[in-house]
Amino acid sequence: MDDTVRTGRALVAGGAGFLGSNLCARLLADGWEVVCADNFQTGRARNLAGLAGHPRFSVLRHDVIEPLAGIEVDRIYNLACPASPIHYQADPLKTLRTCVLGAMQLLELARRCGARVLQASTSEVYGDPLEHPQREGYWGHVNPIGPRSCYDEGKRCAETIFMEYARHEGVAVRIARIFNTYGPRMAPDDGRVVSNFIVQALAGQPLTIYGDGTQTRSFCYVDDLIDGLVRLMESSSEVGRPVNLGNPAELTMLEMAELVRLLTGAQVPLVHRSLPEDDPTQRCPDISLARRCLGWWPRVDPEEGIARTVAYFNSERDRAGRGRPRREALTNAV
Ligand code: NAD
Ligand code: UDP
Repeated sequence: MDDTVRTGRALVAGGAGFLGSNLCARLLADGWEVVCADNFQTGRARNLAGLAGHPRFSVLRHDVIEPLAGIEVDRIYNLACPASPIHYQADPLKTLRTCVLGAMQLLELARRCGARVLQASTSEVYGDPLEHPQREGYWGHVNPIGPRSCYDEGKRCAETIFMEYARHEGVAVRIARIFNTYGPRMAPDDGRVVSNFIVQALAGQPLTIYGDGTQTRSFCYVDDLIDGLVRLMESSSEVGRPVNLGNPAELTMLEMAELVRLLTGAQVPLVHRSLPEDDPTQRCPDISLARRCLGWWPRVDPEEGIARTVAYFNSERDRAGRGRPRREALTNAV
């Protein structure tokens, strides 16, 4: 980390989403002036409810594929992109435009302002990995023409664009390869596994296991991840390459379902649905680089993190009122 504690104006593209809104809250707490830019495709005003009215916070309804004129910033976090498979596959060409054109627009803004810019990349750049755990040097095993490709290849192309702006345009870039992250401010209809299982358990519904449930993911609690993003952004420029951020605690989906049943106390059955095409069979980050360069590693284990997330979804249910209809977990497998 740079020794100097500095603040200024930070732009969070995708700031109304799950990670983005948690990042906005963290940056405000650190003293930054924060501008959230979002087209609200998957983001929610609800995520910003606690921040609205803060004197250093503002929101722009903006699509990152368009230029962002008339604004000066010191830091740009590019989190704008739907992250859940059901959402990024709903309009694949839009996902590609967001990944590719969004990256270019925000890099142009960074060049104009002399700002530092961080790309929220993803473990999906490794595809269905043949190397385990995944180090940053692994080039991945990605289907370029499948239903997940709009996201995987869009994010891979965005990494290329970021590295070329660094090499040829002198823009100060950071690239975080984020592994599956969960926690408060996830939408109940997000469609990813943790929110689905918790929403289903709290509603007394069966937990939907796609495939046989032996596929693995490594789940990171949101506060840990956000801390990693901020550390990476403020790190010295020698980290001129992508950095894995995630929790190496690897679980099968059957183990995650058990954990959710345990922590909700819900006596609900499991129901199997078909495995989506190209669903990766295993995923776990090697975080040696983040440990070495950022002094970062996750502090919250899955039991603690899932318990906090259950508490969050419980409080959202209470707030919505038990009489009102709620949007339940969205699933895409049949
Ligand atoms: P999310 O869907 O909750 O948030 C994405 C946000 O981006 C939403 O507010 C959405 O409205 C906004 N957005 C989408 N397209 C936009 C556009 N064209 N212009 C402006 N705003 C747009 O997802 P999330 O989990 O918060 O993910 C945030 C970022 O982190 C994404 O880029 C995602 O690829 C990356 N990421 C997340 C995870 C994870 O586990 N949460 C893992 C890997 C990478
Ligand atoms: N999954 C599941 N039930 C669900 C939602 C997802 O079993 O209700 C599985 C999914 O097939 C994948 C894993 O959980 O193997 C993680 O899915 P998610 O969409 O959360 O993230 P990603 O596949 O993008 O890592």
